[in-house]
Amino acid sequence: MCYAIPGRVVAIHERHVEVDYFGRRKTARNEWAHLRIGDYVLAQGGFVIEVLSEAEARETLRAWEVLFQELAETDARLSESALPRPGASPRIRRLIEPALEGRPLDEEAIATLLQIETPADLDLLYRTANHLRHRRQENACCVHGILELSNDCRCSCAYCGIAAPRRALPRYRLRVEEAIEAAGEAIAAHGFKALVLQSGEGAYSTEALSEIVREIRRRWPCLIIASFGEIGEKGLERLYEAGARGILLRFESSDPGLYARYRAGASLERRLAHLRHASAIGYLLITGALVGLPGQTLRDRVRDILLARELQPEMFSFGPFLPSPETPLAEAAAPPLREVLKTLAVLRLSDGGKGNVLVSTALETLDPAGREHGLLCGGNTLMLNATPLRYRPLYALYPDRAHAQESLPQQIAETLALLKKLGRAPTDLGLSSHSE
Ligand code: SAH
Repeated sequence: MCYAIPGRVVAIHERHVEVDYFGRRKTARNEWAHLRIGDYVLAQGGFVIEVLSEAEARETLRAWEVLFQELAETDARLSESALPRPGASPRIRRLIEPALEGRPLDEEAIATLLQIETPADLDLLYRTANHLRHRRQENACCVHGILELSNDCRCSCAYCGIAAPRRALPRYRLRVEEAIEAAGEAIAAHGFKALVLQSGEGAYSTEALSEIVREIRRRWPCLIIASFGEIGEKGLERLYEAGARGILLRFESSDPGLYARYRAGASLERRLAHLRHASAIGYLLITGALVGLPGQTLRDRVRDILLARELQPEMFSFGPFLPSPETPLAEAAAPPLREVLKTLAVLRLSDGGKGNVLVSTALETLDPAGREHGLLCGGNTLMLNATPLRYRPLYALYPDRAHAQESLPQQIAETLALLKKLGRAPTDLGLSSHSE
């Protein structure tokens, strides 16, 4: 989905264009050599992905205009400033005020906010994060699709339900043609403009992945985000050439000790080098960590946020650890909902409100109201499951995944209803030009 609203190009710089949406100006990266001022485009994740005819654009705009204003009004009503908040402690207010002005939070401030416990302080934190989201990003909510191509994985992550040592799990792998077809269904039949392709690590050769990405890009306009684990520098380069423009790869934990304990044979340094290489190539990054891994300390959580911010991702992806059966962490406990919501709120405040903050499926699995809470605590992006229904139970990262039984149209209807209630437009307008 992500009903991209057409925007009109109003300025062209070297690799960027400025696009007008109902009077709001956003910036997008441009790879179309023939783009002219006045052209109508669709942008996604800050990339121009399609140029439209004027007639087509005007028709879509007419359909959107009234609804767009209505949604914006609802959002403005639901995201008023929380200050002054009677009952909130002065110490928390003093930390929140500069963040509201867009000043980055330091390590101690992040630690203090993550330790909030009282209802008044929590309310202030959540509502401030929501207000800042509204001020910096208005009511745009990116809704990406995620297509899980294979649960084959060579890694042995102690938390993960599709890790190689889980031998009882039946494995599946979509053939190249099946993968392209499933992507086409999400893009052409259901209107997704941005699609994450994910699999366990090592499930496909670089050649196969490149072919899948190239063919999808050749057939349909869309932003492709690759999430295949560590595919190596060459792999990153090849997939970029094939047309992928985003990488989804969590660093999982910023603590080298925890990382080594739970990811046998892997190294944090190597993962970070991979992320930095992807960024240098020009990929948008989506990254983050697990919240509530057993043994994780407050300092680890603070550093997870600092590290994520340092990587300057397009989107923060943080979600709760959920225990999976038949894994070494099967008996461990998931974190309380509140700890995940605090993390999302602090992520939103930590960098002046610029980044997109994902509301993960794991958060919804932890609590059925997790999606709504997450969207009201600084979150502004969602990923809907576009994997063919028959394979979903096998992509068993953790048990009872939210929406695992729901078809894509069902998920879209449910998402649209919630976004309407919250006054969010299911669009991705890219970056505000003043936030560049
Ligand atoms: N091979 C890809 C995709 C891995 S699975 C990669 O390496 O990026 C996608 C994400 O699921 C992981 O990054 C991890 O953070 C999350 N995940 C795995 N097991 C989980 C669990 N038990 N609870 C919550 N999230 C989990």
